[in-house]
Amino acid sequence: MGESDESFKDIRTIVCDLDGVLYLDTVGIEGAGDALAALIADGYALLFVTNNATKTPQMVVEHIAARIGFEASTDQIVTSSQATAHYLKTHGLDNCFVVGEVGLRTVLTDAGLTLVDDWTACDAVVTGLDREVTYRRLADATLAVRAGARFVATNLDPTYPTPLGLQPGGGAVAAMVQVATDVTPVSCGKPQPPIRDLIAQRRLPGGALVVGDRMDTDIAMAVAEGWFGALVLSGATDAESAPAESAALMVLDSIAALPGRLRGRDRLSGAT
Ligand SMILES: [Mg+2]
Repeated sequence: MGESDESFKDIRTIVCDLDGVLYLDTVGIEGAGDALAALIADGYALLFVTNNATKTPQMVVEHIAARIGFEASTDQIVTSSQATAHYLKTHGLDNCFVVGEVGLRTVLTDAGLTLVDDWTACDAVVTGLDREVTYRRLADATLAVRAGARFVATNLDPTYPTPLGLQPGGGAVAAMVQVATDVTPVSCGKPQPPIRDLIAQRRLPGGALVVGDRMDTDIAMAVAEGWFGALVLSGATDAESAPAESAALMVLDSIAALPGRLRGRDRLSGAT
């Protein structure tokens, strides 16, 4: 038997992305709630890890419950906002000029950071998805970075999957400042170290499998950690751009298929 069989048996934790996996904006993915319940029944620990910086962990819990009827707890949630707070505090960047929504602002404030609206008075410019962003806000962020403020992005996801299609994501907001400053931001989201540090602090049991809809964030993090990946085609990646399955990667139409694939995992050695 191949090495992959032994490794699949070691999986005890599912690291689950949210947007494009459990829901598209306000619309739940069919079967996602039942799939999570089945994974719990099969003995897996669940951790929800999102690059979406628009919601606090409590807001994420409420969104999951409202969209797919699954009751998560805040200690099962890791967001790029939390990772960004961790990075800012570690680096002594206390005064932050934020381009982002209330979820990001709340997480940073709760972490003891100071939000400033005067671009001349910040240590860092922090960007996230902001669905009400203005030119003035981006212009001030640009001025601050050009004047020497650290440029910190919660994430660099180019798109945000919705029922209408792919809309601009947190990376698209950061890109406007990046283009105007020629400064590349530090990213705190998947697959970068700040959010992986927070995941490590949760002391997950056994090996892990990341289920996500993006190769460049979710599956890249799985590769960086030596974990397994399950790419779902219900969000930002379509079948044409999906890679072939491998010993470390399964490709699924949606998370609804994951419990069945894991139960039949001894058959996956045929995919190597
Ligand atoms: Mg996603």
